[in-house]
Amino acid sequence: MRLILLGPPGAGKGTQAERIVEKYNIPHISTGDIFRAALREGTEMGLKAKGYMDKGQLVPDEIVVGVVTERLKKPDCQKGFLLDGFPRNVHQAEALDKVTEKMDIKLDGVINVDVPDEELVERLTGRRMCKGCGASFHVKFKPPKVRNVCDSCGGELYQRDDDTVETAKDRLEVYHSQTSPLIAHYDKQGILLNINGNQDMENVFSEVTKELDKIAE
Ligand code: ADP
Ligand code: AMP
Repeated sequence: MRLILLGPPGAGKGTQAERIVEKYNIPHISTGDIFRAALREGTEMGLKAKGYMDKGQLVPDEIVVGVVTERLKKPDCQKGFLLDGFPRNVHQAEALDKVTEKMDIKLDGVINVDVPDEELVERLTGRRMCKGCGASFHVKFKPPKVRNVCDSCGGELYQRDDDTVETAKDRLEVYHSQTSPLIAHYDKQGILLNINGNQDMENVFSEVTKELDKIAE
């Protein structure tokens, strides 16, 4: 299955992605994760991306589109993929339309996770990530068994530099002005799957699998 996960920052895309890729056995392609890994490795791209990420702005399209285009050509994507956090504006979506057309493949579904803004700031500021495996926790909604220690790999948990109240608000503004128009873009293509993300993680996942199982049939 070739899928996109769409939704505002903090909607639970990464949380659902972990489960979706396991159940449907497809690679998880998160542009945010790719930039954070590049930054950890100290590459030029990582350092360039950090300037935009710290301000809650989008990394320039030519960088992001190039990264995703190369990633989609890797052999593991032949069985399908889950794009998380890409595309983020109409230009990126149109670039992806061209790439898929050239590769002679079609997207099967766009999972649109809807959560009201009031919930998102609390989700973002309480998020804790694992330095080892990238798993995501929340101080209130998904606390680790041991404080600041990852349940899955024992790695140390940290707070992302862009998960402050100020940057979270900037990212929400960017979402509403640049990313939310993609809902109409994919609705027009007839592949939009609307999911209520404002319920506990298990229920969100059941709604997602109900929709995806219909596609997989
Ligand atoms: P995104 O990838 O969309 O930015 P995450 O999956 O990282 O979002 O989730 C943001 C934060 O909210 C994380 O700390 C996560 O544990 C928490 N979270 C995810 N889904 C839910 C949910 N359904 N209810 C409450 N908290 C959630
Ligand atoms: P995320 O991990 O999806 O919350 O993304 C964190 C940050 O990475 C964003 O605020 C952007 O600065 C950058 N980023 C991730 N994906 C994209 C994208 N598709 N286009 C532009 N910037 C992106």
